[in-house]
Amino acid sequence: MLRTYSDVKKVITSGGTVVSILEGYLSAIQKKKNLNIFLEVFEDSAKEKAFLVDKKIKAGSAGRLAGMVIGIKDNLCYKDHNVSSSSKILEGFESLFTATAIERLLEEDAIIIGRLNCDEFAMGSSNENSAFGPVLNPIDESYVPGGSSGGSAAAVSAGLCTAALGSDTGGSIRQPASFSGVYGLKPTYGRVSRHGLIAYASSFDQIGPLTNSIDDAALLLEVMAGKDEHDSTVSTKPVEKYTEVLVSKKQRVAIIKESYEMEGNDPEIKLAIDKVILGLKKQGHIVDLVSFPYLDYMVPVYYVLTTAEASSNLSRFDGVHYGYRSKKAKGIEEVYKKSRSEGFGPEVKRRIMAGTFVLSHGYYDAYYTKGQKVRRVIQDKTKEIFGKYDVIVLPTTPTTAFKLNAVSDPISMCLQDIYTVHANLSGNPAISNPIGKHTNGMPFGIQVIGDFFKEKEMLNFCRELEKINMNL
Ligand code: GLN
Repeated sequence: MLRTYSDVKKVITSGGTVVSILEGYLSAIQKKKNLNIFLEVFEDSAKEKAFLVDKKIKAGSAGRLAGMVIGIKDNLCYKDHNVSSSSKILEGFESLFTATAIERLLEEDAIIIGRLNCDEFAMGSSNENSAFGPVLNPIDESYVPGGSSGGSAAAVSAGLCTAALGSDTGGSIRQPASFSGVYGLKPTYGRVSRHGLIAYASSFDQIGPLTNSIDDAALLLEVMAGKDEHDSTVSTKPVEKYTEVLVSKKQRVAIIKESYEMEGNDPEIKLAIDKVILGLKKQGHIVDLVSFPYLDYMVPVYYVLTTAEASSNLSRFDGVHYGYRSKKAKGIEEVYKKSRSEGFGPEVKRRIMAGTFVLSHGYYDAYYTKGQKVRRVIQDKTKEIFGKYDVIVLPTTPTTAFKLNAVSDPISMCLQDIYTVHANLSGNPAISNPIGKHTNGMPFGIQVIGDFFKEKEMLNFCRELEKINMNL
């Protein structure tokens, strides 16, 4: 199984073709069809591209990702290919243009193999909110893979592609990465263009890679990041060489006290954090428990602000502009009402209604304005921590993956995001690194949050983390 780009390159240097590498992944996808990971395999366009890349390799003109086979979350646009955000409302919709992030991968000769199942409009933590059925976790099929980029995490974990793209608004790259035993990186807000990403909450959303190695995450970020005239929120800061390994120097590491001491943490995850702390100290890093007294506010603020943005972003799906239109509707008002009622799933409707409420006249200040203020407090406190520390370390999630249908109430589902929403509220980059395996057989990750636009230092720190012997 070719799990990383270095595995792929070995095959190519020993004379293997990209076409044959692609065939390998295609047959692996066929064998794992029951996991419901791919909503669609782009067999024809992928084969066409693979054939072309083989020619370029022969001519010595291939790009930096030649032969890397990538799956994309079903909320990323790829021209002339379907995209649905795992929603009935967009079923059958074909992208009119390609997302900038994907365009850049293609320019470097990556192969896009297909679109991956996810929670509808990226709203969820288990991939059970997809209109096209849940994804099963390849490590144990009775478990969820996490969400909302559940298909992306499962595809990488099962070796169905070399890497995948996801989107992260409140943890949707990192949490499924943790549940599926892979790396998941959310860049700094504004590092990667959101052009061509179907918006959930525009001031939170970021595109990022899910991979089987730190090097692959670094490489993909390096290719995708950087200014883009199609997204005014993207930074013009020059893109660093994330793939370059820095000489490790002593790091100041902040462990968030409130998350470290949280009662709901699984004891085995807590033990792993203790081992990491010990290991980091042995490596000569300074590790301190640092208070971040806003943990209880994170999830509520996240939901006030993201639902507000979602209610606005999703107003464009009205049965007129895009996708699904109710056949039962008579007259324009019924077209809106019926198309939206029939087209959206229950979680999306819940969020649109919550968002409409927090933005409504009379409640706007009490919820939306207040939420913005709390977001600012969280941002300021995070900045303060980075005044004294290089990285923040905390669990990605309090528990491992749960079984399918095991979490049914929306509040418990929201609490999945307790440690991941921080980096979206503050805008910092963050990554989940696979760190251990629970006695229940499921993997779990540890999260590293970096300073603004310090992805390079953050990734380098993760390389240090990887050297810690967790078996001691
Ligand atoms: N699980 C979170 C939610 O349901 C995060 C979603 C995301 O990051 N897209 O909103």
